[in-house]
Amino acid sequence: MSVQQTLSILKPDVTRRNLTGKINAKIEDAGLRIIAQKRLWLTRAQAEGFYAVHAERSFFSDLCEFMTTGPVVVQVLEGSDAVVKYRDIMGATNPANAAEGTIRKEFAESIEANSVHGSDSEENAASEISYFFSRTEIVG
Ligand code: ADP
Ligand code: MG
Repeated sequence: MSVQQTLSILKPDVTRRNLTGKINAKIEDAGLRIIAQKRLWLTRAQAEGFYAVHAERSFFSDLCEFMTTGPVVVQVLEGSDAVVKYRDIMGATNPANAAEGTIRKEFAESIEANSVHGSDSEENAASEISYFFSRTEIVG
């Protein structure tokens, strides 16, 4: 086990339904610490830059549109094996396939409006964290 940081985003379907506190409770109950957090309304360019790895996918344009329909909350989470731990409590991308007790099973509206983003590797976590946060904004 190693202490890691991962990038989390509470998506616009969460802020629209006033669920940020419920999801933060699940994060903290899992033993992850929210060591940086801010609420942003992404521009189209910010959403496209963040999801650039998916630029060739059929859902890219709709995804970037969705991510600009309302505020998001971007967060840095820290804890032992934080990358995998957060992916585990998020649940599968498609809520129809998400396990009981996961955030997406409980809260996601659809495969697109699926409530949360979490980095999928330590390497991607580092670049995603630096996309939204400066060092001085991360207080462990
Ligand atoms: P995850 O967020 O689980 O890592 P991906 O990285 O594959 O999933 O996809 C990024 C985001 O794109 C998903 O969280 C979801 O919002 C959206 N998405 C993924 N697949 C689809 C799809 N088939 N149709 C619509 N939106 C999708
Ligand atoms: Mg992903």
